[in-house]
Amino acid sequence: MSSSAASKLLTAPLSSVDPEIAGLIDREAARQEHEIELIASENTVSKAVLEAMGSVFTNKYSEGYAGKRYYGGNEVVDVMEQLAINRAKELFGAEHVNVQPLSGSPANLAVYMAVCKPGDKVLGLKLDHGGHLSHGHPVNFSGLNYNFAQYEVDEKTCRIDMDKVREIALRERPRMIIAGFSAYSRDIDWKAFKSIADEVGAVTFGDIAHIAGLIAGKQLENPVPIFDIVTTTTHKTLRGPRGAIIMTKGAFKKDIDRTVFPGIQGGPHDHINAAKAVCFKEALTTDFQDYAKQVILNAKTLAGELMSRGYRILTDGTDNHLMVVDLRSKDLAGKASEIALEKVGISCSRSTVPFDTKKALDPSGIRLGTPSLTTRGMGEAETKAVAGFIDAALMNASDDAKLASIRGQVAELCNKFPIYV
Ligand SMILES: *Cc1c(COP(=O)(O)O)cnc(C)c1O
Repeated sequence: MSSSAASKLLTAPLSSVDPEIAGLIDREAARQEHEIELIASENTVSKAVLEAMGSVFTNKYSEGYAGKRYYGGNEVVDVMEQLAINRAKELFGAEHVNVQPLSGSPANLAVYMAVCKPGDKVLGLKLDHGGHLSHGHPVNFSGLNYNFAQYEVDEKTCRIDMDKVREIALRERPRMIIAGFSAYSRDIDWKAFKSIADEVGAVTFGDIAHIAGLIAGKQLENPVPIFDIVTTTTHKTLRGPRGAIIMTKGAFKKDIDRTVFPGIQGGPHDHINAAKAVCFKEALTTDFQDYAKQVILNAKTLAGELMSRGYRILTDGTDNHLMVVDLRSKDLAGKASEIALEKVGISCSRSTVPFDTKKALDPSGIRLGTPSLTTRGMGEAETKAVAGFIDAALMNASDDAKLASIRGQVAELCNKFPIYV
């Protein structure tokens, strides 16, 4: 390629440079417009966030931190990263924030490495009881490198029993206690976790990846002032770019920063960090508080509608944006149900239920969440309609004609709530 050909490429549109990828982006955009997204960990970002992600900050290397970089030319990046930090501090009332973690799992890795030595005892919620892989699952770095004791939810109530957590903590004497989840729909008693940790001399680590937007939107209790260290992804309820941040008390600042860089990562993704700053600015508005409130209202509506149709929802409802449906109450299985819903244009994720007798590839439940449909403007009336579509699809899972007609109704609803047009 001659140098003039290379510089011509700089400004050619994607559709002419790479029609295949441009076409796939169009297809994915159409899929998102015409389908209802009920995957609890997904959301739909603003055009402003998309624009920041697609910015020239992607061209920059800035290993290090503001004022102490290992590359030149970082005077603009320094201002941008500090802005992201200041906004995150304001949003969560944090003493210190590191905005560089590339995603939730690497952020959690940094916390483990900063606080624990390999082999140290750590306490976390079991994966099939609502925890996350990085909270001690044996195939994950967490379970491989640290000595985990796991707490569970109660078999009857499906809620975390704090007396049990205390009992395990007193017995195991962990170095660190993790509170947080990917599939649990009730409030966490942060103060109770903190007091148990104090009793046994453990560091408290909160993982609010799923509920950060509901906390930022002032609808759920904020653990940041209570816990030593809190991580969150920025792409779930917080509605920002894919990435994560770590918030700490002052005492952990040095260890966390050093572990993120140079301990684990190289250069930060400056374009993503610029988009995180945009997301924090959006989340600081009262509009975002209204959004967070509506996410929960919609989730409560969806759970109520499904329960009234005879579906068992773990814990009999929800305090947040998500719920796990135990499909055994309807003699259905997770994988087939996920497929039936996909056929009508509703995305969800299959999920194990606590004490599940089936395997993770075809578990007994599905997890549903309302962050994304709420972002596109749907309220309780639409959520009720969605509950009807779900029930109709699951009850007619092998009737393709019926599924096609439900798909038409789903598309009609989506057309009333366009995303980016
Ligand atoms: C999603 C999630 C993560 C991991 O985030 P990734 O960005 O997918 O690595 C970590 N912890 C919890 C509780 C999560 O829900």
